[in-house]
Amino acid sequence: MKIKKEADFSSWYDEVLQEAELVDIRYGVKGFIIYRPNIMRIINQVYELYDKELEKTDHSPCQFPVVIPLSYFKKESVHVKGFEDEVFWVTKAGSHELEEPMILRPTSETAIYPMYSLWIRTYRDLPIKYYQTGSVYRYETRATRPLLRGREFLWIETHNVYSSIEDAREQVKQDMNIAKEVLYEKCGIPFLMLDRPEWDRFAGAQRTYGFDTLLPDGKAIQIVTTHLLGDNFSKVFDIQFEDKDGTKKLGQQTCCGPGISRIAASVICIHGDDYGLVLPFDMAPVQVVIVPIVFKGEEKLVMEKCTDIKRTIEQSGIRVKLDERDMSAGAKFYYWELMGTPIRVEIGPKEVQNHSVTIFRRDNRSRESFEDKNAVVTILRIASSVLSSLRKNAEDYVNKNTRNAKTKEELLSNAEKGGFVKFNFCGKEECADEIKSGTGGIEVRGTLFGSDEKPKGKCAWCGKAATEVAYAAKSY
Ligand SMILES: [Zn+2]
Repeated sequence: MKIKKEADFSSWYDEVLQEAELVDIRYGVKGFIIYRPNIMRIINQVYELYDKELEKTDHSPCQFPVVIPLSYFKKESVHVKGFEDEVFWVTKAGSHELEEPMILRPTSETAIYPMYSLWIRTYRDLPIKYYQTGSVYRYETRATRPLLRGREFLWIETHNVYSSIEDAREQVKQDMNIAKEVLYEKCGIPFLMLDRPEWDRFAGAQRTYGFDTLLPDGKAIQIVTTHLLGDNFSKVFDIQFEDKDGTKKLGQQTCCGPGISRIAASVICIHGDDYGLVLPFDMAPVQVVIVPIVFKGEEKLVMEKCTDIKRTIEQSGIRVKLDERDMSAGAKFYYWELMGTPIRVEIGPKEVQNHSVTIFRRDNRSRESFEDKNAVVTILRIASSVLSSLRKNAEDYVNKNTRNAKTKEELLSNAEKGGFVKFNFCGKEECADEIKSGTGGIEVRGTLFGSDEKPKGKCAWCGKAATEVAYAAKSY
């Protein structure tokens, strides 16, 4: 790596994507990229972590078509309005014009809910908690950026139906807990769950909650959204059920979309350093790499020990690789550091003789020798220390870059510094528009979910009565 992250984050990001062979941006359609094996392996780990939590919380997998017929798509008018400028159309097959045009899904509410209408009959059919993984398509007009903003991106979407709005609200909390478990606990990514202002809600939702984290350039990025749809969609898609008392009621819905491409990008950006990726243990496709340090005449003993240690590590369920490539140890070190492999075990003649292993941890690049019989315990201990240290650094960064602003002047100066600006806000869209144009682009991202932060006094920008404590930031 040539570019220092701190000196030029944006170019550093481009370099790491290329050097670590994560994506290729040379495909012939703007906003569409190739996910190469090195990023797909990381992404598959994120999927696996999410799937596990979704299964634990009684979600079931499903897969709906990527095309949505126009008649489905146009049913919910607010939803159509929100997405019509962003959809890709399929109007022709071979030389025939299609009788009914279709769109490529920008999100799947209108694909899934007509089927829910057929499947749900009585309260016994509820709740329905389904999720699907795959890609969605949006004709982005803003500048695209690999993994951060594209016209095709990978995500998971959950679509739940409940018999009461209270249960639907509980689901929103569960979505938060799932995100905490995956993003914060396993990936070391802190986030703020923000109740988006009315004008920034998902088209057709009663409430939208965005899960924002901060990238090293101080810009916020939404990595998950969850929406309380209430009965907005069930009304138009006729998702009704017969309740216990025999009356017909509308289903109460939620949906949630963890952006898998963006989660992977956040991990790259937040934890990465001047040597490349730095992956938390749970996300790493290879968690431990063993690099033999071989000298002429001593290859056999070293390789035997490497194989032994590999077997031991493997048996404990850790993803381990023995790098037997015909390359210098130095070149292998460079490669695995670039790939962000959390732990490297080095074994040479010295380690054979001393019944030891040398362990290198990627995050702080320190190296220490341990008794080889304790290898697995040591690895697990270091793995957890790597994660907590990455998480703490990320959290410190968010805390340090969340600044209060009491006045217009403070709003202006803190907006300049980047990160989140927290301030008393009047809750008006016109004021948010003025803040955006007046500060060079910070957007009101919403109020903190579940917090009892109360505004005191006046809106920091316009001086009218404040109704909430809002967070604003420049964003991706
Ligand atoms: Zn105001």
